[in-house]
Amino acid sequence: MEKEADLSKVVRQHAEMDDFFTGGFAVKGKTSMPKPQNIKDTADTAQTSKQLDEVADEVRRCRKCPLGSLRTNAVPGEGNPNARIMFVGEAPGADEDAQGRPFVGRAGQLLDKIITACGLKRTDVFIGNILKCRPPENRDPRPDEIISCFPYLQRQIEIINPEIIVALGAPAAKTLLNTNKSIGQLRGLFHEYYAGLGRPPIKLMPTYHTAYLLRNYSQENRKRVWEDMKKVLAELGLPVPEHGRK
Ligand code: URA
Repeated sequence: MEKEADLSKVVRQHAEMDDFFTGGFAVKGKTSMPKPQNIKDTADTAQTSKQLDEVADEVRRCRKCPLGSLRTNAVPGEGNPNARIMFVGEAPGADEDAQGRPFVGRAGQLLDKIITACGLKRTDVFIGNILKCRPPENRDPRPDEIISCFPYLQRQIEIINPEIIVALGAPAAKTLLNTNKSIGQLRGLFHEYYAGLGRPPIKLMPTYHTAYLLRNYSQENRKRVWEDMKKVLAELGLPVPEHGRK
């Protein structure tokens, strides 16, 4: 009986969660998103795609750490070479390892909903991870694995040069910002990611990982992520969809 009550609570919470990021968002007075301002010309885009493909090929051949021999597929990351926003997660899970694509499991479906709630499409952004191969049993990335793998992400960031990086969860935020602060301390504020000497810093917004959100299904946590994403949209000069106004 208690089990049944628990189950119906979980089902209701999931339905509410779905509604939080899919239902009732609308941009007041606007019907379409403005075009990004920093579109590269066709030749530049082709060059960027080629450079990203080269990194992806290297990742697929990589054996720099033991995860390289445990994976089914490496997950280099994917998305728009002209992305203004780059989402960075922790590491592939079982679904991502099976498909070779980032954020395609449950956490990925929630990320898709958040992207849609922002008035964007998955193909507008780039999605990557700190680690490109799945750690066994989804354990936390180890420092030596991060040291081996992080240069791939650094190159992807350099090539895409997004205006904003959204770091999903503590491992991504701590690695990109080289800090030991907690995600609770970091989230909700813009920080700076340094992509290399002579390059201007890129704004970085840490927020909760969607897998954490799924495990900690409170209205408060969903609101926090949504507040963080609203700051990202405002910073990019994109319209901020309002919740509950169709
Ligand atoms: N979690 C991550 O951090 N990355 C993925 O690609 C999927 C789940």
